[in-house]
Amino acid sequence: GYRSRAAYKLKEIDEALHLIKPGQLVVDLGAAPGAWSQYLRRKFAPKVAGQGGAAVGDLNGRILALDLLEFEPIEGVEFIQGDFREQAVADALAAALGGASVDVVVSDMAPNLSGVEDVDAARVEHLIELALDFCQQHLKPDGALVAKVFHSAGYSQLVELFKQNFQVVKPVKPKASRDRSAETFLVGLRLKRPKR
Ligand code: SAM
Repeated sequence: GYRSRAAYKLKEIDEALHLIKPGQLVVDLGAAPGAWSQYLRRKFAPKVAGQGGAAVGDLNGRILALDLLEFEPIEGVEFIQGDFREQAVADALAAALGGASVDVVVSDMAPNLSGVEDVDAARVEHLIELALDFCQQHLKPDGALVAKVFHSAGYSQLVELFKQNFQVVKPVKPKASRDRSAETFLVGLRLKRPKR
């Protein structure tokens, strides 16, 4: 099992678009409690029949996870605790990457919602802008970003921001997120330099 049912959302997105492959470097933003990281880790270390699972030495790929909250360690997953909105945290992520380019960035980050539509839209947009900046700095040109957004105020601006940064932008609504009606995901494929 997984630490959270959130894993099934990433699984559905991945099964639809075939984004996650062994050998990749993936950054997991807003990773706690860790279900997406568990999913990624399993894709990188498929269990060997009859051997009770792969050892960490068999891990083919690298997962770098970030969250505000504490994160119960997962063998083979590197974790940084901090607020993605802080420059020091962006610097720590960059240092951990050590110049390596990222294949896929996944972000399930959600801000604390105030209930005030404009305020919440601005908070979501801020996190998305930071994720897009992170991609511009660290993602491979043929890389991908998967990010949680909300089908509410500001949605069309977010699609626009994605289109400024990616050649291909796909909205995906996993069945696993049906209960939270406003939640949906945007997938950006193939980075482009934004016209700003
Ligand atoms: N994908 C995760 C999983 O599978 O376990 C669930 C993620 S949960 C829906 C959203 C997470 O985003 C929370 O753990 C929250 O602490 C984190 N988060 C929200 N804003 C953040 C920020 N500014 N910096 C880092 N993490 C943030």
